[in-house]
Amino acid sequence: MNRTMKAAVITAVNKVEVVDVPVPVIGPRDVLLKIKSAGLCTWEQRIYTGQAKADYPFLGGHENAGEIAAVGELVTNVKVGDRVTMGSSSCGSCRACLRGEDKGCSEHFLNFSLKGGHYGPGGFAEYKVHRSDGVFPVGDAPWDEAALAEPLSCAIHAARLLNARLGDTAVIFGAGTMGLMNLITLKKSGLRVAVVDVNESRLAKARELGADLTFVSDEKIRERIKTAFLGGVDHAITAYGSDAVNQDALDVLNNRGKICLFASAHPVTPFAIDPNVMHNKETSAVGVVSADRQDHALATEMIAFRQINLAPLIDQGFPITDAAEAFHRATSAPSYRVILNP
Ligand SMILES: [Zn+2]
Ligand SMILES: [Zn+2]
Repeated sequence: MNRTMKAAVITAVNKVEVVDVPVPVIGPRDVLLKIKSAGLCTWEQRIYTGQAKADYPFLGGHENAGEIAAVGELVTNVKVGDRVTMGSSSCGSCRACLRGEDKGCSEHFLNFSLKGGHYGPGGFAEYKVHRSDGVFPVGDAPWDEAALAEPLSCAIHAARLLNARLGDTAVIFGAGTMGLMNLITLKKSGLRVAVVDVNESRLAKARELGADLTFVSDEKIRERIKTAFLGGVDHAITAYGSDAVNQDALDVLNNRGKICLFASAHPVTPFAIDPNVMHNKETSAVGVVSADRQDHALATEMIAFRQINLAPLIDQGFPITDAAEAFHRATSAPSYRVILNP
């Protein structure tokens, strides 16, 4: 095998360079993955544009699918040639793990750093080292859809923390990739779902993916949602981080409604909640980022068995040599997931 590989590294704000770096060396419990597909997540897009802080050079890439190219001597769950998605690891014995909340395990982000070289999760490269408990077999699903197991796991995680179920109602603010991931998940769970966005073409996509109602955001949005849902909704997910959106979401909740802060906020604006409204309406608020391993396992299984079609959320694929163009595409045009295919 070649000792070096191509990696698409963010070297400065708005600058991506394809460089040769050493192929990572695996330990006894690791696997080496030949990356087939890598999604450009909002987080990496923000690091590229300078909106989110990171040290450069930065090697992103955490929404990955690939083929096992080598396994360490202690690996038993997968073998060379297996097709897998890549998720988090866990120690299995800390308090968080024992409670099934391994998102809180200190090993959760273990796979998202590249040993010996550039800092970052490391998936925008030809190969990636990953601990074997963080890979999940994905059958013969298309690579680009398989790469979206990680973002799908976040939406599944949100639905689980909200305890969203058959007969519930929900509104999702934001019809970008992550808003639509939440839509697909909630529809699959049996909810009646509305999507709000400023962009009509994004709402058309939401309808295509099963949204029961869509609303172009305006100053009457609260009333329109409440009218359509006979008073309010059980769940409001903000897949777009702004105080105005958070306030709209809070306002349209039913008694015992839950608001889910799914998006991070840039810039950060404090989220003011009237304690008496919260008290009287028995409102719950939940924040969501990333996922437990069970969510990633379910996301992968749903993709593997084609219970879910994520193809409409894929914008365009680029070879790794065109990574600069891919980042430009992802951050300039209103796009769904842009994919790198090393
Ligand atoms: Zn992501
Ligand atoms: Zn643990």
